[in-house]
Amino acid sequence: MIPIIRLGDSMLTKHSVVVPDINGDIQALISDMFDAMDRGKGVGLAGVQVGHLLRLFITRVPGDSPRVFINPDILETSIEQEPFEEGCLSIPGLYTDVVRPSSVRVQAWNLKGRPFSLTVDGYLARVIQHEFDHLNGILFIDRIDPKKKLRLLAGYEAKVEA
Ligand code: ZN
Repeated sequence: MIPIIRLGDSMLTKHSVVVPDINGDIQALISDMFDAMDRGKGVGLAGVQVGHLLRLFITRVPGDSPRVFINPDILETSIEQEPFEEGCLSIPGLYTDVVRPSSVRVQAWNLKGRPFSLTVDGYLARVIQHEFDHLNGILFIDRIDPKKKLRLLAGYEAKVEA
């Protein structure tokens, strides 16, 4: 079982590096990540969250098939933005609204090493942007009002210590 690292681990603030080769090791990692994500009942998980600073993440949003994004790039985001409640397997139990673009166009490579691009909105667009941020060391709580962030974290730490 591959453990998910939690808030406070400095790794979560680091930039991930490009995956040089989509090989058996990467396929095994992705498979472990799906196990970890499902165990945590999450809808997305980035490599850094399981201790691998690699530019890859997975999603499994209700009603959608499981997806793998390797070396992703967000090519375009909509001008229109919307609030949406987010959580994170690395910050269990903390949920808050985050404002982000409503739709995105993303390009990535799949597990077979084939490039693809995708324009999505709704829940999947949200999860892709959240996971993409992880690759650059950004957490969803970094995208909210700093005062609100401090308040939420105080509550979170109190809960974790309890
Ligand atoms: Zn997250």
